[in-house]
Amino acid sequence: MDFTLTPEIEKLRQRIRCFVDEEIIPLEANKDNYDAHENIREDILATLRDKVKSAGMWAPQVSPEFGGLGINTVAMAACYEEMNRSIFGPAAFNCAAPDEGNMFILNRVGTPEQKKRWLRPIAEGHVRSAFAMTEPKGCGSDPSLTYTTATKAGGKWIINGRKWFITGAKGAQHFILIARTSDDSRKGLTAFLFDADDAGWNIERRIPIMGPEEHGGHCELSFDGLEIPDENRLMNVGDGLKVTQIRLGTARLTHCMRWLGMAKRAMEIALEYVETRDSFGAKLIDHETIQTKLGDAAMSIQIGRLLTMNAAWKLDQGSFARKEVSMAKIQVAYTLNKVVDAALQLNGARGYSKDTPLEWMYRYARQAKLVDGASEVHKMVLSRNLLNERTDFWSWGHDV
Ligand SMILES: Cc1cc2nc3c(=O)[nH]c(=O)nc-3n(C[C@H](O)[C@H](O)[C@H](O)COP(=O)(O)OP(=O)(O)OC[C@H]3O[C@@H](n4cnc5c(N)ncnc54)[C@H](O)[C@@H]3O)c2cc1C
Repeated sequence: MDFTLTPEIEKLRQRIRCFVDEEIIPLEANKDNYDAHENIREDILATLRDKVKSAGMWAPQVSPEFGGLGINTVAMAACYEEMNRSIFGPAAFNCAAPDEGNMFILNRVGTPEQKKRWLRPIAEGHVRSAFAMTEPKGCGSDPSLTYTTATKAGGKWIINGRKWFITGAKGAQHFILIARTSDDSRKGLTAFLFDADDAGWNIERRIPIMGPEEHGGHCELSFDGLEIPDENRLMNVGDGLKVTQIRLGTARLTHCMRWLGMAKRAMEIALEYVETRDSFGAKLIDHETIQTKLGDAAMSIQIGRLLTMNAAWKLDQGSFARKEVSMAKIQVAYTLNKVVDAALQLNGARGYSKDTPLEWMYRYARQAKLVDGASEVHKMVLSRNLLNERTDFWSWGHDV
């Protein structure tokens, strides 16, 4: 592939970069700008979102029909990386998980009526959404262990079961739910849409976690007779796994795009420190072991960018890019952890303090190796591809 961005996308990338530098990064230093869960306060976020809208950079990944710019996946890679140079960035542009992935799947597979009812309010920033798949005693790495059931009764589906780690559930209005509709091993799951105001479900708890939280936290939900009209089924009965795979293909990759921005910002903070800090008769930057650490981090980030861009390009060509997305997800999750740890170390005690966002990033980064498929599971998928494809595993893209 050719890695050159079109002039329009390059201009958008630069505008996002400037906006993040001038309007968002300065907010990070003031602790009053944070909510109780270490994310940006909702009122400050609302003001920021108005500024993004006025600047014409709102939800660039969403189609113009729903208020975005309709950019493709390659362009998203370039833009999301810039947004997440600030820990507050993605939410400000309406490009944060899980809304971002939910908008993507609703736009891709929703009916016109479903898009109007469920997608438009998220795209316009009026409501938040959540995606409910993982279960405490069932579906985790293995979706075939989904125990939450949807039973047909007349024109409705009755939902019973439990989900957990549902990001953003507290305060979300629109939910996508994966439930079992039959015992068929491939077509046993179905995707549904429900509204927070519907009766028959409950948030049992907001699960305490080690890192800062997305708005709405990570919640455990119970379902006790939630009724969903058949018109709120997403795709066909039995297509739940398909919905998940289509959603996660791009959603996993957008995590990589954002994580690369965070890793780059960590390096920016490290560079500022090592260039000015004296140690043993020289600046820190003059010591060779420091240079090795920086060089290693820079190279890891660039490998992640190449893997991410390659997968983005394949998605734009119509491929599911499963192995490319898996490779990017494994590598970038590892790189984020490694680079943030290195940046923290390079800042000495300052890195361990709350004077920089590095400790925030350090705690946040750990989830990258778990969310949207643990690294081990992605490696298992790659191994399956290798067994099937042999040396064609490393083809130059003719399998698109
Ligand atoms: C911060 C956060 C946010 C999340 N948000 C959401 C959300 O919004 N919606 C949602 O539905 N889910 C969400 N999840 C759940 C997430 O998708 C799961 O954590 C992930 O899929 C792994 O499943 P599990 O935690 O059940 O791990 P398990 O399946 O219990 O596996 C435990 C560990 O075993 C290892 N393992 C598992 N299978 C294999 C294998 N085949 N080979 C080798 N090793 C293996 C891995 O190391 C894995 O970490 C979130 C999780 C976190 C941490």
